[in-house]
Amino acid sequence: MIYLDANATEPLRPAARAAAIAAMAAGGNPASIHAAGRAARRILEDARERLAACFGGRAGNLVFTSGATEANALAIRALGAGRRVIIGATEHDAVRAAAPDAAILPVDAEGRFDAAALAALLSEGPALVCLMAANNETGVLHDIPAAAALCRAHGALLHVDAVQAAGRMRLDIGALGADSLALSGHKLGGPAGAGALLLAEDRPVPALIAGGGQERGRRGGTPPLPAIAGFAAAAAEALEQDAAALAPLRDMIEAAAIRAGARMPGAGAPRLPNTTCLALPGVRAETQVIALDLAGFCVSAGAACSSGKVARSHVLEAMGAGPLAGQAIRVSLPWNATAADAGAFAAGYAAMAARLTAGVSATAA
Ligand code: PLP
Repeated sequence: MIYLDANATEPLRPAARAAAIAAMAAGGNPASIHAAGRAARRILEDARERLAACFGGRAGNLVFTSGATEANALAIRALGAGRRVIIGATEHDAVRAAAPDAAILPVDAEGRFDAAALAALLSEGPALVCLMAANNETGVLHDIPAAAALCRAHGALLHVDAVQAAGRMRLDIGALGADSLALSGHKLGGPAGAGALLLAEDRPVPALIAGGGQERGRRGGTPPLPAIAGFAAAAAEALEQDAAALAPLRDMIEAAAIRAGARMPGAGAPRLPNTTCLALPGVRAETQVIALDLAGFCVSAGAACSSGKVARSHVLEAMGAGPLAGQAIRVSLPWNATAADAGAFAAGYAAMAARLTAGVSATAA
């Protein structure tokens, strides 16, 4: 089996595994005042320091959560109070569900936000803008510093879902000009179960779940120390590794896919080095995913619901991709992908495309 679905979850990094096991072995609750509790608190605060440093922030401004779904919801609650929420048309469901009444900021055919539309929306009053750093289906990067400059000029706040960009490119909250970042441990090679909201400055964060006053009252509940320790170790290791080294592997796959008749929505924009969106005209995404799975490759359709059903991609629809919105798969190389993996997939994709598009033309004829 060759795993090419890193944007769903990255394989666990060795440093993250070691840190998580050590935290599990150490035990203790960071809220306890005895020696075991103090040791646990050291693990927690050390992870907070390391993570904040990885993203150019201050430890006191980092709130641990269960993941990025929660971090996005917390950001919208904390920064959106008294403001109109504006979200990019290609945001993840975690953001869309947390702001169901938000105004939608359109994107162009490559998936980049429309700056003129943003300026017009911002002129309508105080706002919180939510834009992702990198799209989970296409890898397309928004120009976050440009969005931040527009937001600042209109007195708006900017929340950035940085889940897919974190660990794959340098991110510094100050340089981005963002007011907050949402992060997820399992998307950069840590265990699932920990994420974070990093604020650019100290500001009130009304907890979604109050509980015992943990995280300075910003998020109740005993923190999952093994997942948090693994998250920090994964982030540090991801930053040491140059994810740009994955780009030639992605390019190898894309060259083969184009020869096999694929289209690549978003390929004209700056993108993550590990992600490619391959649309095969006339062939349902689900059919492609199943065929590739049978051939030993784990990839995903653009938008897989938790039910396992494949919906049309709202990301590709927002980009005006038409029928291709139901015919695209996402290939996302994990941190440990090899040239042999990419070569095998390129051959597997070509074989799949030849077989399934022959079916398409036969049906059409
Ligand atoms: N935001 C983006 C862009 C994502 O890709 C995901 C996960 O797929 C999330 C948020 C949600 O992250 P988590 O699984 O940590 O809740």
